[in-house]
Amino acid sequence: MNLIVQKFGGSSVANAERVRNVAGIVTETYKKGNNVVVVVSAQGDTTDDLIAKAHEINPNPSPREMDVLLTAGEQMSMALLAMEIERLGFPVKTLTGWQAGFLTDSTHGNARIRRINNERLDNELGKHNIVIVAGFQGMNRYDDLTTLGRGGSDTSAVAIAASLHADLCQIYTDVDGVYTADPRLVKNAHKMDAITYDEMLELATLGAGVLHNRSVEMAKKYNVNLEVLSSLTRNPGTIVKEVVRVEKMLIRGVAKDNNVARISIIGVPDTPGIAFKIFSHLAAKKVNVDIILQSIGRENKKDISFTVARENQELAVAIMEDLRQTLGAQKVICDDNISKVSIVGAGMQSNPGVASKMFEALAEENINIQMISTSEIKISVLVAQEESEKALNAIHDAFDL
Ligand code: ADP
Ligand code: ASP
Ligand code: MG
Repeated sequence: MNLIVQKFGGSSVANAERVRNVAGIVTETYKKGNNVVVVVSAQGDTTDDLIAKAHEINPNPSPREMDVLLTAGEQMSMALLAMEIERLGFPVKTLTGWQAGFLTDSTHGNARIRRINNERLDNELGKHNIVIVAGFQGMNRYDDLTTLGRGGSDTSAVAIAASLHADLCQIYTDVDGVYTADPRLVKNAHKMDAITYDEMLELATLGAGVLHNRSVEMAKKYNVNLEVLSSLTRNPGTIVKEVVRVEKMLIRGVAKDNNVARISIIGVPDTPGIAFKIFSHLAAKKVNVDIILQSIGRENKKDISFTVARENQELAVAIMEDLRQTLGAQKVICDDNISKVSIVGAGMQSNPGVASKMFEALAEENINIQMISTSEIKISVLVAQEESEKALNAIHDAFDL
């Protein structure tokens, strides 16, 4: 008997008709003799709506109460799905995150799973129940509710699959797999049959929202058999795994991330220890820095620019304003009208000319590159946000993906 974990995202359970559709997929899998654990997200835009409701009452709610509110979205979905499965005459049991044994750290709004206590899950599966678990949530060691970060239901599903040694973890969504670029932005994008954990992790981290990046991290660590597929078509999806055989495949995909702000501190002294001062102050306040650029010194002055996620933008600017005075720098500039566009592919390590091809595609479209960062498996550029979709398409076409 196989154990299959099936996760359904918000659009897959958005209304009664979609919930019925999901119940059909789940019960079909169960009827074939499999053990089934289902993980659900909140319906449609429920999580966004709950956040808006919170801010209507209090623009600055405590992270703890925010998590109490947001966990409700997933609970609604699981109950509704269970009711439909009951109606079809199958044995079903719902479990909240904490009932399912999800123990997390205490970072409200972005908690990490520490471990899963399987007892209840095993018990319900032993009774041949279809088990539905609310995604995106857990409990910390003080018995407080936590959530795993936006998109975190994917990670709930993979964590259960790892913990129960499931045979397969299926992530059902509104596209029929992982594409070479977001199919909503790039019309020539095409579906991949398979992709490696490392490439998928890079794509997810660089903005391909189809999978929560932590879910991919966890799938790689525990070697979870992962498939991304559509709940609406019955097409085969994309398999995410350790090794993928492809010939001459330099670049696997392109991604775009609008969640970036660039901060520059202009005219700092061109002396040793300045970068240390700047970045240690940011680190002390737990501000994560992504791309860093330092200009060549001139007249004993230089400029340092870096990018942060937009939620850290205000804090980072405040830290730089403080430093501007102590360092005698000229000014601090912040730009959040930018996007990071990236190409990803394990094959690029051993192939020269990838970067120049990417830059050529942008030059041909007359798109200015504001910053560049490279690693073995990716190249990212910062461009103006209004040009990012054009950039994505130009790069996608240039590499003939
Ligand atoms: P769910 O609610 O099922 O979790 P998400 O909205 O989180 O769905 O993720 C699916 C969306 O991810 C797609 O609708 C698509 O627009 C977007 N996406 C971004 N990059 C990619 C990609 N490379 N391949 C497929 N989908 C992508
Ligand atoms: N409902 C949560 C969100 O919208 C979690 C998820 O969908 O994965 O972010
Ligand atoms: Mg998602």
